[in-house]
Amino acid sequence: MRVEIRSQAGGAGISMLIGILVLAGYGLGFEPLWCPVPSLPGTHPVTAICLVLLGLGAWPTTSQAATWRVIPQMAVGIAVLLAVLCVCDHLLDTHVIGWITPFHATLRAQAASGRPIHFAMNSALALLGLGLAQFLLPHGRIRTSQVALFFSGAILMTALIGFLDGLGRFHDFMGPLTLLGSAALIVSVLAAASSGGFLAAVLKDSEPGRLARMLLLSCTVIILGIGAIVARSVSAEDDPILTYQTVALLALTWVIVVASTIRADMIDLLRRQADAKLIQDASTDALTGLLSRNQLDKVLSEPHGDSTRTAMLTIDVDRFRSANNALGTALGDALLIQTGKRLSAVAPHYKVARSGGDEFVIFCESIDRAAALQLAEAVVATMAVPFELGGRQFRVTSSVGVAHGGTSGAADLRDAADEAMFIAKQQGGNQAVPFVKALHDARMERVRLEQDLHRAMGCDDELTLVYQPIISLRDRGIVSLEVLARWMHPVLGAIPPSRFIAIAEDSGLFLELGRKLREMAVRQAATWAVTQNGCLPVINLNVSPLELARSDVPGQLMAAIERHGLRTSGFCLEVTEGSFSDERALEGLQDARRRGFLIAMDDFGVGYSSLAQLPRLPLSSVKLDRSFLTRATENDDGLSLLATMVQLSHVLKLPVVAEGVETLKELDIVSACGCDSVQGFIFSRPLTAAQLEPFLLANRPWPTEQPVFVAS
Ligand code: C2E
Ligand code: CA
Ligand code: CA
Repeated sequence: MRVEIRSQAGGAGISMLIGILVLAGYGLGFEPLWCPVPSLPGTHPVTAICLVLLGLGAWPTTSQAATWRVIPQMAVGIAVLLAVLCVCDHLLDTHVIGWITPFHATLRAQAASGRPIHFAMNSALALLGLGLAQFLLPHGRIRTSQVALFFSGAILMTALIGFLDGLGRFHDFMGPLTLLGSAALIVSVLAAASSGGFLAAVLKDSEPGRLARMLLLSCTVIILGIGAIVARSVSAEDDPILTYQTVALLALTWVIVVASTIRADMIDLLRRQADAKLIQDASTDALTGLLSRNQLDKVLSEPHGDSTRTAMLTIDVDRFRSANNALGTALGDALLIQTGKRLSAVAPHYKVARSGGDEFVIFCESIDRAAALQLAEAVVATMAVPFELGGRQFRVTSSVGVAHGGTSGAADLRDAADEAMFIAKQQGGNQAVPFVKALHDARMERVRLEQDLHRAMGCDDELTLVYQPIISLRDRGIVSLEVLARWMHPVLGAIPPSRFIAIAEDSGLFLELGRKLREMAVRQAATWAVTQNGCLPVINLNVSPLELARSDVPGQLMAAIERHGLRTSGFCLEVTEGSFSDERALEGLQDARRRGFLIAMDDFGVGYSSLAQLPRLPLSSVKLDRSFLTRATENDDGLSLLATMVQLSHVLKLPVVAEGVETLKELDIVSACGCDSVQGFIFSRPLTAAQLEPFLLANRPWPTEQPVFVAS
């Protein structure tokens, strides 16, 4: 940017310089009589005026030169005017061109002889082309300064020739030399016009600004050199006026060169100052005057003394969006400003920044963990003090995350503080939460598992089913099989269902997962129905309240069951008490009951359902949670409670399954209490389909003397 400005200033300087020189030349009475490139608009004073205008237009200003686009338009305007005048002159013999160029004797003579059209038309067409180029070419493709440079070169050359010719003294030997010089000048100006690339490459100097100045100076040197020859050859006695004219011309050249260079440097300086101001502006937050995010990043990228004694606090105003809506933007801004002030007051020795929106950051050096936590608590406390906004009090709370360099073990303090803040928010806000690496790792693993679960659901071998028999205490036959899901992670090994089902529920995968698992179970049941001649225990499927509430589990399951030629009465939905407190889940259960499914209350006794509610629920059995059994083995009260629960269920005509029976003692207890069936390691751990098949033969009692212990 800076370089471009310099180059542009240089080009504009040259353009103006040449224009002024040509005009001065005319003014002083020199007449360019011979032009090697006749189509170049070098010899007309109007062209020279346009050139000055062009130079002015290309002159960069700190306000991004919005006016420069007007200048080529002016050039076109003048050109059109000139052309019209020429046509008028030619057709009507008005001699206007001769009249508006009073200094130009040749043109005057031409006009008098009725031939002005040649020069003037050339000028008009060239200017028209130039102006149109500016209009038509996309901005940036051709810069005014470049065009001006090109024309400047051409005009400089013709002006020089005119100048020398005007002197009339070097006619004989300057001809070929002038031609050569002119050609060199045109080439160099063209090169400069090709955005400095050509000459820069030749000179191994890539800075176009320097190139433009060099050109400017070399033009000056040429003029000075010729001027010197002229000054030497012309004695004061010969033609004193001519000597003064030459000196004046040289002085003018120098003034323009120096002014142009100074101006370029000045713009450079202004630009640098503007850049510095931009950086300064970016470093402070416009609203609160605190450090900005950029500046904070800079502070963080600088080396700190002892990184184990640094801490970062991320502060977020709770529900700021609603506060902003309620207050209006102006008061919302005031709230942020006051927040900034409070934070600065509470942490005067640390760096306070606003990192965006309603989020603030405090970066502390030389602080121990306890002090950082204390500071975080102080922030929460100061934010809880009502704000005075628009004449009334307004209360907000804040969530603060704290990460300490020494103890958090976090790779990036900022991310760690952000994460802790997010947790503070998740937990309801108005609190400070420290970053704990172990919790972070657990969360990261959870995120990873979520991704892996997605993948696992797409393949056939990771998610499998095992079946745990529920044994009748009456005849030791298998009354039902509880279907339990297993996930064998390729790297982490077996992941317990309690874990991955929770992940599935959090990530929205649960509907798909549940459906897939149930489809697998129904398929397996259909296979057994064939191999076991239709004699199948009831298949118990675990269904979460969320699934029941959110999807048509009974409908989907029934469709799958019927597809395989099975009956819904051979399937039991195990649901926890939560399913009965959710209205929609309860509706789903009633629908399931209507469709002929059995329904077992799972983990009965650990939930919150009231006993009074029990008779109204669409149940076909209850599964007593293992915790009853544990208490029953501990004391008589526990034993009585278990017995009462069983009796109560029987009153409601619900058979009771005792869950988690592991020992003979426990088996005795549940038998004595009247439980109908038992599920537990005493009989069998969950088994794979293949492991289970030998025990599936109809009406065969379960071999208690040889409990089957298979790793689940
Ligand atoms: P749950 O429904 O209470 O399932 C019984 C759990 O108790 C199973 O654990 C089973 O292995 C375990 N268990 C069986 N006998 C004994 C015993 O004698 N002692 C002890 N200590 N535990 C025993 P698992 O397979 O880890 O399942 C845990 C929970 O995961 C299940 O609890 C169930 O709520 C859920 N779950 C498992 N599979 C699925 C499924 O496919 N869908 C849904 N929605 N939930 C499932
Ligand atoms: Ca269950
Ligand atoms: Ca259970």
